[in-house]
Amino acid sequence: FFERVALVPPDAIFELTKQYNADASESKVNLGQGTYKDSSGEPWILPAVQAAKEEIRRANHEYLPILGLASFRHLATKLVLGESSPAVVEQRVASCQTLSGTGALHQAGLVLYEALGPSCTVYITEPTWSNHRQVFEAIGFHVQSYRYYDEATGKLDVTSLEQTLEAAAPGSIFVMHACAHNPSGCDPTQEQWRRLATIAKSRNLFPLFDAAYLGITSGDYDTDAFAIRHFVNDVGIEAAVCTSFAKNMGLYGERVGLVNFITQTPEAAIAVESKLAQLTRVEISNPPAFGARIVAAVLGDDELRAEWFRNLSTMSGRIAEMRQRLYDALVRLKTPGDWERIIQQKGMFCILGLPLARVLQLKGKQLSFAIRISKPTLTVAYDWRELRETWMMQSWLLH
Ligand code: PMP
Repeated sequence: FFERVALVPPDAIFELTKQYNADASESKVNLGQGTYKDSSGEPWILPAVQAAKEEIRRANHEYLPILGLASFRHLATKLVLGESSPAVVEQRVASCQTLSGTGALHQAGLVLYEALGPSCTVYITEPTWSNHRQVFEAIGFHVQSYRYYDEATGKLDVTSLEQTLEAAAPGSIFVMHACAHNPSGCDPTQEQWRRLATIAKSRNLFPLFDAAYLGITSGDYDTDAFAIRHFVNDVGIEAAVCTSFAKNMGLYGERVGLVNFITQTPEAAIAVESKLAQLTRVEISNPPAFGARIVAAVLGDDELRAEWFRNLSTMSGRIAEMRQRLYDALVRLKTPGDWERIIQQKGMFCILGLPLARVLQLKGKQLSFAIRISKPTLTVAYDWRELRETWMMQSWLLH
């Protein structure tokens, strides 16, 4: 029966973590997976999340409604779009709890495939998170990548970004990283986002925001949500937002996410929400309760919410500090190369631009699957103790 099932190679990022876990080295450091660690290299349970867990400990184990926990959906929608978002006030937002950010992207893609048709192109950045292409291709979309990052300067190629938006057919979908672009760490400035929104509106494009790092990038949630809110609230563009609480609440394994569709009319939002309910019923019947209850408990309580905002600034502050310390160490050790990008790029990821040979040397053994490195650079003299401090610093080694 299974002769026609071809062997699929393992996912590069999870495979690297598997190899990392199996590695007996005492000075190992995982530069692959984007998970925050504290100063002792351990996962951090956010104090706000810990307190929320206490609060929900008497919750029952009944099924949630198909669209998810209502309080979670309402609180999280207002969190992302802003309390006074005209779309929220005018009830033009559809929402559905999802299996974290990945589930949100998949749900969004399924709705858009029906709404915009199979001939519609999904544009993704080059480089991007390795799952983007396969999520949208698995649905049936034609996926097109475009140059986003300039390897020579280590910065965003905004000209390429604008030209791609200008040239795309009306109705095309653009997957936009709301903040902390994965893996380049390069985001448009607010001014550049304004210009992109103007082009998107005039060209009738559909922005799909992938919002996996809100709050953990700058440490200020509102700042990180700027692009989404500008497109939706200021310019009035129809859009989808795929939100994950994996990174910003440290709820990686709980799989709690949200998909929002912002429409022109309340009737359209109701229709889209009914579609989301049907898709959820078919796929998972109803979403898991635990993570959604935690998020709702944090967002619904003024004190816990304030604590969470402090936790966000702790995480983003530590990431910035680790970047600075790695940069300082490389400079102090007179390591040949230009390391400015380490402190310029934002969020958990950084493209170091190391050559393949150097990566393999650092890793200590030959990798058995595809590795793509941006360009050959110079010799690197790492002080392992410094490198060890950079648990959350991600390099774009695998694709
Ligand atoms: N989008 C991006 C850009 C990501 O980096 C990630 C996680 N690495 C996700 C979405 C999805 O994460 P999750 O499904 O764990 O919420």
